Amino acid sequence: MSDLIFEKTSRNDAGWLPALSHSEEEILKFLPASALRRSEAHLPSVSELDVVRHFTNLSRKNFSVDSQFYPLGSCTMKYNPKVLDAIAAADAFSQTHPYQDPQDAQGALRILFETQTLLSEITGMEEFTLQPAAGAHGELCGLLIVGAYHRYKKEKKTKVMIPDSAHGTNPATAALCGYEVVQVKTDARGHVELRDLKAKIDKEVACFMLTNPSTLGLFEEEILEVARLVHSVDGLVYYDGANMNALLGHCRPGDMGFDIVHINLHKTFAVPHGSGGPGSGPVGVKKELVKFLPAPRVLKEGSQFIYEKEAPYSIGKLRSFYGNFGAIIRSYAYIRALGREGLEAVSEHAILNANYLKTKLKDLYEIPFDGYCMHEFVMSAKRQKAKGVKALDIAKRLLDFGIHAPTIYFPLIVEEAMMVEPTETESKATLDEFVKVLQEIQKEIETNPQKVLDAPHTTPVSRIDEVRAAREPNLRYRAK
Ligand SMILES: *Cc1c(COP(=O)(O)O)cnc(C)c1O
Repeated sequence: MSDLIFEKTSRNDAGWLPALSHSEEEILKFLPASALRRSEAHLPSVSELDVVRHFTNLSRKNFSVDSQFYPLGSCTMKYNPKVLDAIAAADAFSQTHPYQDPQDAQGALRILFETQTLLSEITGMEEFTLQPAAGAHGELCGLLIVGAYHRYKKEKKTKVMIPDSAHGTNPATAALCGYEVVQVKTDARGHVELRDLKAKIDKEVACFMLTNPSTLGLFEEEILEVARLVHSVDGLVYYDGANMNALLGHCRPGDMGFDIVHINLHKTFAVPHGSGGPGSGPVGVKKELVKFLPAPRVLKEGSQFIYEKEAPYSIGKLRSFYGNFGAIIRSYAYIRALGREGLEAVSEHAILNANYLKTKLKDLYEIPFDGYCMHEFVMSAKRQKAKGVKALDIAKRLLDFGIHAPTIYFPLIVEEAMMVEPTETESKATLDEFVKVLQEIQKEIETNPQKVLDAPHTTPVSRIDEVRAAREPNLRYRAK
C-alpha cells in the first residue's frame, strides 16, 4: 500500500462508479473563461473508492481511544461520547457565523455565557474567558494576567516558581513571558517541599504555578500553606487545571487559594484530542483579576447576551473570535448532561480505576510514592531496567498487544517513569487485561528480553530514530 495518495494513479483503470461531471461549456455558464485552469491541477488521479480505502487504511495504522486502551498519563484520554459530536455539528451551531449580529446569535452567546458560569462554579472562580485554544495557551493568558496585575500595582516582579515535577509547558510559558524560572523541590512523599519553597520565595516572585493533584497523581496536602506563602509576597497562585479530572464536584481550586486557573476542555470535559485536534483552555480568575481578562467577554445585560464593549485593563485579544466554539459546545453539553452528581461520579471512578490499577501493579513495578493516588499514578521500571529492559522498551512492546503506552520519562524526577491514567470510562475488564499484558511482558523480560527490546513487531513502522524523526521529518518513510 502506498503511504502517499500522490503515489497512486488509477484514473485509467478505475472501477466503475456513477460520476458527476460537467463539460467546459456548462462550466462557462457560471465562471468567466479567465477563471478556468490552463493546465491540469496537480492532484492525485484516484477514484472515489481508492480515496476511501486509502484514508480508511491510514486511519487504521493509528492508535485512538475509539479503538484501543490509551492510559497516557496527564493527557486524560477518556472516551468522548459521540452524541456530543452530533450536538456540535447541528446546523444551528455549525452554520452560525462569528460576525453574525449578536441579536441573531443569542442562543450561541447564551451557551458561551453559561459555559463561563458553569466553569466558574466548578472551579470556584469569579469569571472565565473561553478564548484560549489549548492548555499552554491558557497558561500564556494566565501569566499575561499576572503581569498586568503587577504592572497595575506598580510592583516589580521577575520570578515564577514551579515545582520540579511540573509539566514542561509551565516553565516554557514562564520563560516566554520573560520571567526567571525558580524550581521548587519535591519532598520524599511527592509533595512540594515547603522548606525549599520558603528558602527561595522573595518579593520578586510574581507567581507560583502548580497542578493539583500533581503530575505524580498526588493531592498537594499543604496547598493552603503554599497559597498563604505566595500571597504573603503578593504573588499569585496559578492552577494548571489539566488534572481537574480528579476533583470534579469534590473540591475547587478557588477554595484552595488559587487566583487563576486554566482548564483543558479537551482533557476533562470530553472534547476529543490528540493529533493536534482543536482544543480549548478556558481561564478563570478571582474577582480582583476579572478586569484583566481577554476582551471581549460575553456578558448578560438584562435578558440579552452581549459582547463586552469596553475593557480598558484587559490584556487584549488572544485569538480570533471567542474561542473554539465547537469544543465549547461539546463541554457545555457534557456538563449539562452529567450535572453535579454525574461530574462527582466521573472523578470518583477516575480515582477508583487508578487506585485499582496501582494496587494490581505494585508487585510488578516499583511505585515510588505510596498511599492512595488520585486519577493517575507514576510507577518506575527501575527493576526492569536492572534486567536490561527500559520503560521505553515496555512502552513499545505494549503496542503489539493493542494498548497505547503510558506516558514515559515524565515526570522527570522519577527514574524510568511510567505514568498511568486509566480514566473513568474504562471497564474493570479492560484494566484487568492491561495487568495481564504487563505480567506477560514481565515474563518475557525474565526469559526472552530480546523480544521486548526489538518491539514493536506488529505495527506499520518499528523503532524509529525519534530524535532524527523530530529534527528531519521524512514523510516518505517506507513501511517495512
Ligand atoms: C496537557 C497538559 C498541559 C498542556 O495542555 P495543552 O492543551 O496540551 O497545551 C499542561 N499541563 C499539564 C499538567 C498537562 O497535562
